[in-house]
Amino acid sequence: MKRKDAVALGLKVYAADAPCKRCRGNLRHVATGACVPCRAEYQARYKRDPVKKAHRNTLNAEKTRKSREEKHAALRAENPEGLTRAEAIGLGLSIYTPLSPCKSGHYKRYTNGACVVCCAAYQKRYGRENRGKIQKQQTAWRSAHAAALREKRRTEYQINDAKREESQRRNKTWKKQNRGRATAIENKRRAAKIERTPPWADHEANARVYVNCPPGMTVDHIIPLQGRRGGKRIVSGLHVHTNLQYLTPGRNSSKGNHYTREDAEAAEAWQINWLRERGLA
Ligand SMILES: [Zn+2]
Ligand SMILES: [Zn+2]
Repeated sequence: MKRKDAVALGLKVYAADAPCKRCRGNLRHVATGACVPCRAEYQARYKRDPVKKAHRNTLNAEKTRKSREEKHAALRAENPEGLTRAEAIGLGLSIYTPLSPCKSGHYKRYTNGACVVCCAAYQKRYGRENRGKIQKQQTAWRSAHAAALREKRRTEYQINDAKREESQRRNKTWKKQNRGRATAIENKRRAAKIERTPPWADHEANARVYVNCPPGMTVDHIIPLQGRRGGKRIVSGLHVHTNLQYLTPGRNSSKGNHYTREDAEAAEAWQINWLRERGLA
C-alpha cells in the first residue's frame, strides 16, 4: 500500500510495499513514514541514554519552574502579602499567609501545608463528636502513667524551689482571700477524718455557711464533731450545714465541746426536718 492511500483511508499505521532496509519489516507510521519497530527501538534507546535523559530532565525542570514562577507572579499581584511555603520556611515561620487560599478560601497556613482554620475546625468537631472517647483515652493514659506523673510532680516540687515557693505563696494568698472556703475545706477534712460527714451531706450548703460567715463571727458545730475518743463513743454531731451555727469567737471557745439540752433539741429537730424534706427520714 502507498502512504497516500493510507492517509486517504485515515489509518495510523500501514504495510508498505518495500521492506525496511534495516529490519526488513514493512510496517510504517502513516504520519511520519517511519518503520514501526525501528522507531520503537530508537525511542527506547533515547529514553535510556543518560546524557539525553539528563538534558531532558533539565528542560522539563526549567519548564516547570518557569510556569510556577509565572503563576506565583500572577498570585502575588493580587495578594502582595502572600508567601510561598519555601519562603515561609526560609523565614523560620510556623504559620504564614499563603499565595493562594485553601479549598474553603482561608489564607492562613502551617508550614507543613495544612490550613490553620480548617485544622482548628476539624479538631473542634472531632473533640465534640468524640468527647467520651477522648476522656476515656486521657483517663487511661493518666492511670497508666499515674506513678510516673506523681513522681514527676513530687520531684518538681522538691527540686524546684521557685515552683514550691510559688505554690505555697499562691495557697497562702488564696486562703487569705477566701477565708470562709478555706475553713470549710479544713473542717470538711477534719470531719472526714473522724467520719462525721454523712453520704447525703450537701457539701455546697456546708461551704456556703463558711463563706457567708459574718465578719467577727466563727462557724460552730452545734453538736460537736468529736468522733470516737479512746474507743469510747461519745455524742458526735454531723458535719452538715444544719449542724452549723455562727458564734462569736469568745462564745465558741468557752462553749468548747459542751452543748446545752436546748442546743441538742434544736439541732435534732432541725436535722430531722432537713432529712424529711429530702425524703431521707
Ligand atoms: Zn525497520
Ligand atoms: Zn481552610
